[in-house]
Amino acid sequence: MKIPILDLKLQYQQLKSEIDGAIALVLESTQFVLGPEVQKLEQEIANFLGVNHAIGVNSGTDALIIALRALNIGVGDEVITSPFSFYATAESISLVGAKPIFAYIEEDSFNINPESIKEKITPHTKAIMPVHLYGQPAKMAQIRDIAQEYGLKIIEDCAQAFGAIYHGDCLGCGQQCKESQRHDIEGKYVGSIGDVGAFSFYPTKNLGAYGDGGMITTNDDSIAELAKMLRVHGAKKNYHNEMLGYNSRLDSIQATILRVKLKYIRKWNQTRQDIARQYNQLLGNNDAIIVPQFSKGHVFHQYTIRVTNGRRDDLKEYLANKGIGSMIYYPIPQDQLPVYENQYTPHPLTTQLASEVLSLPIYPELPREDIETVADAIIQWTKEING
Ligand SMILES: *Cc1c(COP(=O)(O)O)cnc(C)c1O
Repeated sequence: MKIPILDLKLQYQQLKSEIDGAIALVLESTQFVLGPEVQKLEQEIANFLGVNHAIGVNSGTDALIIALRALNIGVGDEVITSPFSFYATAESISLVGAKPIFAYIEEDSFNINPESIKEKITPHTKAIMPVHLYGQPAKMAQIRDIAQEYGLKIIEDCAQAFGAIYHGDCLGCGQQCKESQRHDIEGKYVGSIGDVGAFSFYPTKNLGAYGDGGMITTNDDSIAELAKMLRVHGAKKNYHNEMLGYNSRLDSIQATILRVKLKYIRKWNQTRQDIARQYNQLLGNNDAIIVPQFSKGHVFHQYTIRVTNGRRDDLKEYLANKGIGSMIYYPIPQDQLPVYENQYTPHPLTTQLASEVLSLPIYPELPREDIETVADAIIQWTKEING
């Protein structure tokens, strides 16, 4: 591909001396698992996000699993989540023995629809797991209202949204605003709003390591303590194992790489927003495509358009022939995957959106002329199919 959907080499080239130097120090320290580099990263990320605790684990998937376990969710429990996500979201719920319950998504944001959460609540419901898909915060104020009303926990799947900021739809109003109780989450980072946040440092994420990695965030001391035990075989003290846990420790080489990258993440996320704004301006909506909603705290892990009239795969192929990469996240909603076969009734809007989404190249180092090339190709395609 002349313009791949993602190119990690450019960023490494920019940071090579800093990253190589940091890795060399870890190699010399021979402290490879957890240890001081992981502790420093945990502290820095807790400070960055404004949470009391950040706990480094082996992957985003493990962060979700350990978050659920730390909230005591297991057999007989139900967790309401979005059907439109990477499979790790529902898989984590099933792996702890609980049942994922799939709500609906919203057409404009692809995120979970708060109204549909309410419809899915039963006496077995223990938690809601919203996903900040593509880097856009879910409707956390509404979700938190529902959680409070029904006594549910919130686990935020922040895998695609490091640095994303929640903004409600009630900005700049007076003190008498009936939504004023929601204002305490206005402007907060995702992962600091629910009971627990789960992040992934998979290399392609906005804050990506050079291997697997993840993090759990929480303000709750007892959840943090449990999560720390669960990542090391359920032990507070070596060889005094108290419960079934995991081997899910973040390694120090990944932590030191992430510490270098954390210094740039605000700038990178800003650049992703600039790129998305530029795409939106160049493309605009027409009868063949719908550009994504632009919201203030969105960190555009993916820039995802909708291609209408069943033409998505045509456009993907057209772009590929011009050397432009694109991806479908996700072709099959989670509830329609084989694991859940015949257990759920597909929701028409979710099925439709899964057949329309197409993610275009976006990453902070994406050359400016490439944005124009991609947009020009799509506009050209639109003219050809209409012509
Ligand atoms: C990447 C991702 C995960 C899993 O993270 P890993 O680090 O790959 O285990 C979970 N949820 C979502 C939405 C993701 O995009």
